[in-house]
Amino acid sequence: MDGVTLVRHPLVQHKLSLLRDRTRSTSGFRRLVRELAMLIAYEVTRELPMTTERIETPMEAMDAPMIEGKKLVLAPILRAGIALAEGMLELIPSARVAHIGLYRDHDTLEAVEYFFKAPKDLADRLVIVTDPMLATGNSAIAAIERLKARGAHDIRFVCLLSAPEGVAALRKAHPDVPIWTAAIDRQLNEKGYIVPGLGDAGDRIYGTH
Ligand code: URA
Repeated sequence: MDGVTLVRHPLVQHKLSLLRDRTRSTSGFRRLVRELAMLIAYEVTRELPMTTERIETPMEAMDAPMIEGKKLVLAPILRAGIALAEGMLELIPSARVAHIGLYRDHDTLEAVEYFFKAPKDLADRLVIVTDPMLATGNSAIAAIERLKARGAHDIRFVCLLSAPEGVAALRKAHPDVPIWTAAIDRQLNEKGYIVPGLGDAGDRIYGTH
């Protein structure tokens, strides 16, 4: 699908299957989210623009390849998105972080904002929004609306699992925002959970079920 990158790497697919398993411990689940985040960070940054900087090796001077532009921003949707952003920060340690607090109203499934704190110069940076689950798409759509209202215009969305409904909704609402996902599952159930999915990602990361 246009604008959607399915990360098919065998390590990603294997770790995702381990993550889905209902018997996975909280610590095992967290570790896998961290590892998956690093692997997907590698994919989502694959085409970043490059420049060169003059450096001195112990042998001689050279024009060394470096990533161009300002440090990128990771924008986790609280709370499950934090675990994904933290894993990505291990590969991109100087990234800035924008926290977006949204929860799903369990009756309407609409996204309700309760926190937003981002760097001021979003317009000058690539912003990577993170949320492990792209379900209805409501939270992702709302988070990206808020980022755009603050000037962001170069935005990517990263998740682990998505539902076809969420992918379609996000592509329709924000066609300029490409998506990276490790799987597109069968569907949403009547409560807005992804099936087969992995359950509630926040509860499984933080042991709150
Ligand atoms: N959020 C989750 O954590 N899990 C789902 O299946 C859907 C939304």
